[in-house]
Amino acid sequence: MTLSEKDSQYLWHPYTQHKTSQTPIVISRGEGALLWDENNKVYIDAIASWWVNPFGHSNKFIADSIYKQLTTLEHVLFGGFTHEPAIKVAEKLMEILPKNQEKIFFSDNGSTAVEVAIKVALQYFFNKNEKRTTIIAFENAFHGDTFAAMAASGISFYTQAFQGMFIDVVRIPVPVKGKEQISFDALKNAIQNHNCAGFIFEPLVQGAAGMVMYEPEALAKLIRICKENQVLTIADEVMTGFGKTGKTFAMDYVSEEADMICLSKALTGGTIPMAITTFTKDIFDAFFDDDINKALFHGHTFTANPTGCAAALASIDLLQTSEMQQNIKRINASHLDFQKKIENHSKVITARTLGVIFAVEIKSDSEESYYGSMRTKLYNFFIENGVILRPVGNIVYILPPYIITDEQLQKVYKTIEEAIEMV
Ligand SMILES: *Cc1c(COP(=O)(O)O)cnc(C)c1O
Repeated sequence: MTLSEKDSQYLWHPYTQHKTSQTPIVISRGEGALLWDENNKVYIDAIASWWVNPFGHSNKFIADSIYKQLTTLEHVLFGGFTHEPAIKVAEKLMEILPKNQEKIFFSDNGSTAVEVAIKVALQYFFNKNEKRTTIIAFENAFHGDTFAAMAASGISFYTQAFQGMFIDVVRIPVPVKGKEQISFDALKNAIQNHNCAGFIFEPLVQGAAGMVMYEPEALAKLIRICKENQVLTIADEVMTGFGKTGKTFAMDYVSEEADMICLSKALTGGTIPMAITTFTKDIFDAFFDDDINKALFHGHTFTANPTGCAAALASIDLLQTSEMQQNIKRINASHLDFQKKIENHSKVITARTLGVIFAVEIKSDSEESYYGSMRTKLYNFFIENGVILRPVGNIVYILPPYIITDEQLQKVYKTIEEAIEMV
């Protein structure tokens, strides 16, 4: 049997309808921004493998750190024990996170980082004997696939089978240009009519919605409204964190600070699954008590895995090099040039850029659904041409590894231009 045949015999892939989907491509190695399949066909990974890999595939510096950690202390339980790699990650994050963040909690992936934040928001008020049980979230939000994270998500593909089984969530519109006031009013309304514990949002860019962008001033205003009403704010930086928006965190653009921040994806440079939720002292203090019942009874077997921590430390070191910071600026400038070039194309509705994130919306005669026919056509065209891009409906976005070369980036642009002509 070929690897593909064995795959289809044994494996169940994410977000995949196995009856109608194509056979997955077998990737055998990766280097820099490139991936090679089993037939040695090369692909440019223009979405950094679901936004996790800023420093390139098979990065030697991170790999060496992991190897060293694996052969020193690969894992130890984090209940009752601690270790230097976890402490170093915490110290490092305190240097780069917004100043109000003082405590960090480890978990395994973006969904669990969000799950922890939502549970903490709910228990915060439980511990204070206040009845607040509703979470506020944006329309078309994506916060992950575990239950509380899914409840906060607003993309129906991911949630429709589970309606009626969720924690209470009220949804407000995203404050995109021209809709800010509607969003502010909806938030005030939600707070007035529900016992709101927290507001969770993807700061400045809604990734899975198709890189929908909105302004820092609008987010600052929403956070202010929450603060005036003692509603906790949760910045889900799982996608935006670690340089994607041009600053270390999207919240670095925003004049107000969130109470909690969720991190994962690029945290370990796309090597080892790991996530972190960070908190203010005020939140931690609501759990700090002689009463054991007020503790946070949440944890995962691999919490703060030392190998993951070593990967995170190496990744943050790489992010902070002037070379990587230059790369982010270079990609941003290049995206802005490309945006100028295509935004007036007759088949383009709009194009947008923030940091290394670029998105273009393509005109279509009919409403394009998330996994609709235009999406399939575009996706197949990109794959045929050796570029990995995963359009969302009629939206094509690029989120490349920071080490992508100019030549590779130009090939991605050219392929997108050809795709626009093709559809
Ligand atoms: C991807 C993502 C998640 C979920 O992360 P997983 O690691 O896939 O569970 C949560 N929030 C945002 C904003 C994301 O982009």
